Amino acid sequence: MDCIFCKIILREIPAKILSESSNSISFLDAFPLAKGHVLVIPKNHHQKIQDMSKEENTDLFSLVHQMISKVDSLYGSTLLAVHNGKDAGQEVPHVHVHLVPRRNDDSAGAIHNMFNSSLKLSESDIEELYDKLKI
Ligand code: AMP
Ligand code: ZN
Repeated sequence: MDCIFCKIILREIPAKILSESSNSISFLDAFPLAKGHVLVIPKNHHQKIQDMSKEENTDLFSLVHQMISKVDSLYGSTLLAVHNGKDAGQEVPHVHVHLVPRRNDDSAGAIHNMFNSSLKLSESDIEELYDKLKI
């Protein structure tokens, strides 16, 4: 498997590994968006969150829960992000949760800045989405 994150898990390429659980590890992002940018990944190779088993998912987010207090203690706020698929911005096709420390002067803004905020949905759009998404 030619996957950079699988290679980190197998210690075939170096990384600053911060913590490890039975199914997940965390490490410092090599090209950080902010000081203390951490990635948390499952040990098994999956591209998307929904490809993981519930157990892997629980283990991954337990490690996120553990790491978030460490990362959050750096500056007091943290952006959590998952690019779940190529069109969402995913470059490494192995599930990873970004923990990016945020500061009020970092000028990155909120997730809302990434999108056209003038999007308006009709009642029928909303009904259609509701029918597609409700479980
Ligand atoms: P994404 O765009 O969501 O796929 O993010 C991939 C992340 O992996 C980026 O933030 C990269 O900086 C990070 N990254 C790529 N290669 C490495 C590496 N060898 N060690 C640590 N982080 C990496
Ligand atoms: Zn992988």
